[in-house]
Order: sequence, then C-alpha cells, then structure tokens
Amino acid sequence: MQLQEILDRVSTYAPDADLDVIMRAYLFSAKAHAGQFRRSGEPYLTHPLAVAGILTDMSMDVDTIATALLHDTIEDTLVSQETLAEIFSPEIGELVDGVTKIGKLQFRSKQEAQAENFRKMLLAISRDIRVILVKLADRLHNMRTLESMRADKQARIARETLDIFVPIANRLGLGGLKTELQDLCFRYLHPDLYKELARAVADGAPERDAYIDRNCEFLLKHLSDCGIECEVSGRAKTLWSIHCKMVEQNLEFEQVHDILAFRVLVDDIGECYAVLGQAHALFSPIPDRIKDYIAIPKANGYRSIHTTVIGPEGRRIEIQIRTHEQHRIAEDGISAHWRYKEGHLALDQEEIQRIVRLRELIDAAKEVEDSDEFLQTVKIELFTQEVYVFTPAGDVKVFPVGATSLDFAYAVHTEVGNTCVGAKVDGRMVPLKYELRNGDTLEILTSPHQKPSRDWLQIAQTGRALSKIRRCLREEERERGKELGREMLENELKKHGVALAKTIRSGLAKRAARDLGLRTVEQLFLAVATGNTGLMVAVRALAPDINFEKSEEDETPLQAFMNRFRRRSTSPVLVGGEQDVLVGYARCCNPLPGEPVAGFITRGRGITIHLATCPQLLASDLERKIAVEWDSNVVARHHGELRVVCADRPGLLANISKIIESAGINISRIEAHNIGDEKSTIHLEVAVTDISELHTLIRGLERIRGVISADRVRG
Ligand code: MN
Repeated sequence: MQLQEILDRVSTYAPDADLDVIMRAYLFSAKAHAGQFRRSGEPYLTHPLAVAGILTDMSMDVDTIATALLHDTIEDTLVSQETLAEIFSPEIGELVDGVTKIGKLQFRSKQEAQAENFRKMLLAISRDIRVILVKLADRLHNMRTLESMRADKQARIARETLDIFVPIANRLGLGGLKTELQDLCFRYLHPDLYKELARAVADGAPERDAYIDRNCEFLLKHLSDCGIECEVSGRAKTLWSIHCKMVEQNLEFEQVHDILAFRVLVDDIGECYAVLGQAHALFSPIPDRIKDYIAIPKANGYRSIHTTVIGPEGRRIEIQIRTHEQHRIAEDGISAHWRYKEGHLALDQEEIQRIVRLRELIDAAKEVEDSDEFLQTVKIELFTQEVYVFTPAGDVKVFPVGATSLDFAYAVHTEVGNTCVGAKVDGRMVPLKYELRNGDTLEILTSPHQKPSRDWLQIAQTGRALSKIRRCLREEERERGKELGREMLENELKKHGVALAKTIRSGLAKRAARDLGLRTVEQLFLAVATGNTGLMVAVRALAPDINFEKSEEDETPLQAFMNRFRRRSTSPVLVGGEQDVLVGYARCCNPLPGEPVAGFITRGRGITIHLATCPQLLASDLERKIAVEWDSNVVARHHGELRVVCADRPGLLANISKIIESAGINISRIEAHNIGDEKSTIHLEVAVTDISELHTLIRGLERIRGVISADRVRG
C-alpha cells in the first residue's frame, strides 16, 4: 500500500476531505519509524500504511486514516500525545493515545487480568468508536503477517484475536473483517486441521466452481425470466465455518453437505421475498432452516434472508437473499453507515441508535465494581445468541438466549422490572422465570407491592436487569439497616429513660453523629446496624449524662423476668407446641429450619433434633421419638457445611467468600485442599438461617466460573 493509493481512495469517498492531514501524518510517521524494521524484514512503515489502507476500505474519515498512520508512534518512538495534539489536533492526539492504551492491554485468556482489560477495551469503544476500528485494522494486518512470528506467539495472538477481537468485530457488524480474522485464527490455532481442511476444500474446488458457475447462470436466467433484476454469486463457506460445523455436529469433512452458499442481491426488500418464493418453488426447502433477518434484524444490524434447500443435482445449498444496501452493511458494518457532511463524519440515525444501545449496555455494566462480574455481565450480551420478542405495541426487543420475562420487564423500564410479578405471553400467564422464545409477545404484569428479592439474581440473565436488581437490593439493605440501627438505639436509650426522638428534635443527635465522623443521623443508624459504630459508643454520644454502672443494677424485677424470658425463648424448635425445652442438633444429619424434623429424647441432654428421615433416628427406640416443628417466629443461625469442587484458579477462593458475604452469611471455617488434576475441594462451614438460604447459596456458588460442584455435607 502506497500513500498515493490511500489519498486516491479517500478522495473518492470523501471528495472534500482535507488530504493535507494525511500527508503530514505520513511524513511524521516515516520520520518516527525511520530505521525500524518488522520481523519480516520489511521497513516498519509498511505496517501503518497497510492499516490505513484497511481503514480506507471502510471509508473512514481523514482523522482516522491519520491515526492509523500514527498509531504506533507513541508506543514505539519517543513521541507523546501532547506533541501529536500540537502538530495535528487534540482529537488525533487522543485517538492515537486511545489505540496505544488498548495495545498495551494483555488479553491472556483464563486469567484474572483479562476481565479488567476487556472492561477497559469496552470503555474505549464507548468513548470513540474509531479507536477500536483502528485497533481492529491493526490486528487484521498483524494477523495477515503473523507468518514471521514464533509459533508460541502466533498461537497466543490468534487465541486473543478469536476471544476478544472477533466478537467485537461481530458486534459492530464488520462481517468481512470478522470472517477474515476467523480463518486466520483457525490457521494459527490449529495448523494441522487447517491444512488438512484447506487441502480437502481445494481438492473439490474445480468441480465445485463449475457447479457454482452453472447454477449462478441458471438462477440468474430463471429470476430475470420472472422479471427480477439481480446479481447472483456463489462460493464455498469459509474454512472456519466448515470447521465449526464439523466440531458442533461431530462430522467428518465428507459428511458436511451444505458448504456451498449462493447469494442473490436485489434492489429492494419486496424483491427479496419474491426471490425467496422462486427459490422455494424451484427447490425444496429444508424445514426450520429459513431465517428472516430482514423482518427481524440481528442486534448488530445484519439483514438478510437465509434458506437452505435441496438445490440442483440434489445438493444441499444455502441461499442468502438481500438488497445491495443490506449487503454493504453486512460486509462493512458500522462503517457502511458513515455519511460525510461538509468533510466531517456523521452517522445515520439508525446507527446512532445501535451505538446508544451498546453504550447503555456498557454503562449498566459500569455500575458493577468487580471486573470479573463485569466480564460476565458484558459477555452475556456480546457473545451469546439472541431471541427476538415483541412488546404489545409490536416493537421488537432483542435478548440473549436464556433471558426471562424478568429481563424483558427491566428492558421496558427499571420501575416495571422492580414491580414485575409475571407476564402474559400471547395471553397466557407465565412466571418471572419464563424463558423467552422467538416471536413471543409479552405483556408485563406489575404490582405496587412487589419488590426485587435475592433470588431474582438467579432469574435475570441480562446485564441490565442484574445490575438494576443489585442496586435495588443494596438500597433496600441500607434502608433496612437504618431502621434496624434506629430501633437498636431507641431500645438501648429507652432503658436509660432517654427518648431517641427527643435527641433528634433537639439537634443533639445530629451533633453526636458529626462527632463520630458521620454526616447525618441516618448514617449513624446505619453505622450502628452494620457494627461500624459500636452501639454503646453511639448511646454515650447521644446521652452523655447517663451513668451506666448504676442503671444496670436498677433493673426492676419485672424487667429482669422479661429479660430472662426473652433469653430463653430463642429456641427455634417447638416441642409439642412448647418453646422452653432444651434442644440440641444431631451431628449425624445436622438439620436446618425448613427441613422435616423429629426429636429424640436423650438421657439428661434434653431433646436432640434429627432429620425426620435420619437413618440413625429411624434405627433407634421409637418410644423415645417425639414430634417437633420449627418455630417460624424465631430466626437463628444454624451450622451448615458445604463441599465445593473447583478448578485451581487464582482468586476463586476470594470470589467464593465474596458471594457468601454478599448473601449476608457468616463463614465460620473455610479450608481448601488440592486434590490433583488441577482441582481443589473447598470445605466451608457457614451459619445460615434455614435450608432455603443454604440452597440459594449453593446455587450462587455453582454460578461462579471455575466451580464444578457445590454440595451440602451432613455430619
Ligand atoms: Mn500496529
């Protein structure tokens, strides 16, 4: 690629562009990289020129082309962002800096660092989409010239490209770039498979080309006889897509039938359906293989009709039908939407909408502080397949496969999500956890009494819904905390004859809060509830005049009785309807509230509570068995044990304890053992209120990446 060619290309698609910037960038880059060479032995400058060339294919504006020429100057030479801003423009300085920053990120898969880097990358996209386009072009050229790298480096770069850059290219609708990257990744990740498949495909090429030529002509003639003006082309599918098909369906190459795809391009959408009709009249379609992405476009803006048919000579072929305009968008994605207005880049309305959506997604994910969680959240949206559902007004909404009616509710509006009690799908009532199916029409049902609960985190699948639910739960926790703190203070002060309300009215409470380094009285309540401020510390600050020694002794006989009664009445088990009985829990089965239980009358140690089905209980003297039940009015902590089997992954233990803590559960013991085969078991002892809390915890643990199983252990 030569400078002149770049200038020529830019002036074709942007006639009034200021080419001077590009020329200056070229000269600057040539000087900066003078004397540098690529591994292949070529002068370094060939690389920025090639990257700029790729971007002219996408009809990018002059600032982007200049950025491409300059993209390695900060990294490889001594130039600073400020210098570039001064010589060119602050905008170009920022763009080059953005590309440099992304370049410094190391996307080693399966490492904690990946999540944080990915997060930065997405934030960069949301700032200026051009940064990522330059980075993608840079990566494409590096992949094209990967040959000269060491084999281990080739594999690492290819892996990173497939894991990170291919999904992003897909999301931005850059079909051509994505396909080329995929085949290049395949070539370096599985060199042997690649060679074998390339040879097999090449072997059949002459015969296949003849078939394609024959039938392109046939289709073209038939369609034009029907009065449809069109362009017909055919090709073998890419090696990567054939490889994926073989892996997914466990096939040998000889068993893959539909590796041929024909493409029919027409002028308008009406003709697309006319062509579909003709195709199905000529050839029998294969059921369930018709996809109408024109009526319901993919989230990345892709529009086309796909159908697989038994084509001429009984061969399975895929036919893709779309308009010329749709084709341009399918190949060039976001860049097909660039419009030039007075020499500046502008996007059309539809594209702006799509970028807004991407930004919303990233903004929602930004609220997630933990970068691992961020990756999960964003991955869900970026990498998975989609389902399309309708609002009652007929608007299409797109969700990842597995999304539920709760996700739909949050997509409508946060408040609708927060008060959602269920939905009607095509007139039928469904629960929150209903999994969305293509073509569903959903009407969300709400209730003013509804509010998010912890198990909603298991139901929601989209990043947006999850982050809204978490936020709501956090707020509610804070509210509850404040109330609890207020109650604790009120009760404690009352013992000493002080009314909390009075200290608030007089302004004393506010002063006390300030003295304790808190901004408001409410924060004081919260601090007391969470234990950040000791209860007695707060009491002393609120009522400095109380003499504590004395009031303790002043407990009236009635108070003393009440207190003793209170202490005793905390048994969580009712024996024959009575509360005040000495009970213990059997170690053999370690029952939890919510599980069916029975009592066993011991000699001198009161009653032992067993699981109703405990073998040890069933084997013992029936005479000494007694009916017991859990007292739902008493909430107490019970001992629970879990065994978690997981992959050896750094940070996993921290993630596990974080999940447990965020569920408000106390850990009394945590112990990890390596069991070989890169696996560990983690033994956990926790204090839970009942069986459902334990089950929720188990489900939460099972959702952590790297956790293979989580089970309860008894005795
Ligand atoms: Mn580069």
